[in-house]
Amino acid sequence: MNDRVRIYEVGPRDGLQNEALPVATADKRHFIELLVRAGLREIEATSFVSPRAIPQLADADELLATLERASGVRYPVLVPNRHGLARAEAAGADAIAVFTAASDAFTERNIGLTVEASLVEFAPVLARARELAWWRRGYVSTAFGCPYTGRVDPARVVEVAVRLVALGVDEVCFGDTIGVGVPPQVREIVTRAVEAGIPVERIAFHFHDTRGTALANVAAGLEAGVRCFDSSTGGTGGCPYAPGAAGNLATEDLVYLLDGMGFGHGVDLAGVLAAARFIAGVLGRPLTTKVGQAGGWDPGTGQPVGRPSC
Ligand code: MG
Repeated sequence: MNDRVRIYEVGPRDGLQNEALPVATADKRHFIELLVRAGLREIEATSFVSPRAIPQLADADELLATLERASGVRYPVLVPNRHGLARAEAAGADAIAVFTAASDAFTERNIGLTVEASLVEFAPVLARARELAWWRRGYVSTAFGCPYTGRVDPARVVEVAVRLVALGVDEVCFGDTIGVGVPPQVREIVTRAVEAGIPVERIAFHFHDTRGTALANVAAGLEAGVRCFDSSTGGTGGCPYAPGAAGNLATEDLVYLLDGMGFGHGVDLAGVLAAARFIAGVLGRPLTTKVGQAGGWDPGTGQPVGRPSC
C-alpha cells in the first residue's frame, strides 16, 4: 500500500468564498505563497463563477494571472460553465474542477441546474480542458447527505461519479457538504466506486468537521486505500447550512493525523500554522482549529511545537 498522501488545499477558494469581508487580492496571493512554502503542492486557488454569485472571488482573473506559480505546484480553479472556462483560459489556468452533486434539490438551489443538466453543461468544458491537456477534477457534493432531502443513496453518489469519469475527469472528489458523514459511509462509497470501475487512485474526499467526524472519516478513507484528502488551512470555510459551525477540515489537523500515522505528504506543520495564523489575522479572528490552538507535538520532548508562544 502506498504511504504517500496528497493534501489538496482548498483554503483560498472554498475557505474564503463565503467570507463577507472582502479579502484583498494581494493577501490572497500571499496566503497562497505561504501555502506553497509550507509544502502544499495542490492549491485550489479561486473560482470562475459569476462575481455576482460569489463577490469574494470576483478577482479570480486578476489573482490567477498575477500569481507567481511555483514549479511542481498545481493551482486548480473552479469552473462552472463554458464562460468560466474561457475566463480561466485567458488567466492562464492549467487545472480545473467542476462541481455537481448527488442530489437535484441541492444543485438546483446551488447552481440552478439539475444534476443531469449540470453534467450536460460540463461535457464541453471537460472536453476542452482535455484538449488543452489540463488536469481535471469533478466534485460530487452532498455525497453523505443533503440539506434539503436528507439521506442520499450511495448508489446515486457513485452513478454521478461514474458519469464524471466518463466525461473525462482525472479525479472524483466526494464531498460531505453538510458534515454529516461517518466512517461506514466512507467505506461504502469507496467499495461501490471501485466496483463501478473507478480506480481508488482517482478517488478523493472532501470532509467537513461540522459534527467532529472529519478525521474519523479520513482514517476510514486511508484504510480503504484513498490517498487524497481536501483540507483548508486555518479551517476557513464555514458550513453555510449550519451558521457558526465548523466547515472544512483544517489542513493543520489533517497534517498532524497523517504525521502521527506515518503517512508522507511533504507538508510542514509549522509552515501550515504560519499560513493559518496569517489568514486568521486577515479575517480578523482567532485561530480556532484544534492543532492551531494546541500546536503539534514533539514526541522526543513531550512539548507542543509550532505555537506562537513555543
Ligand atoms: Mg468545503
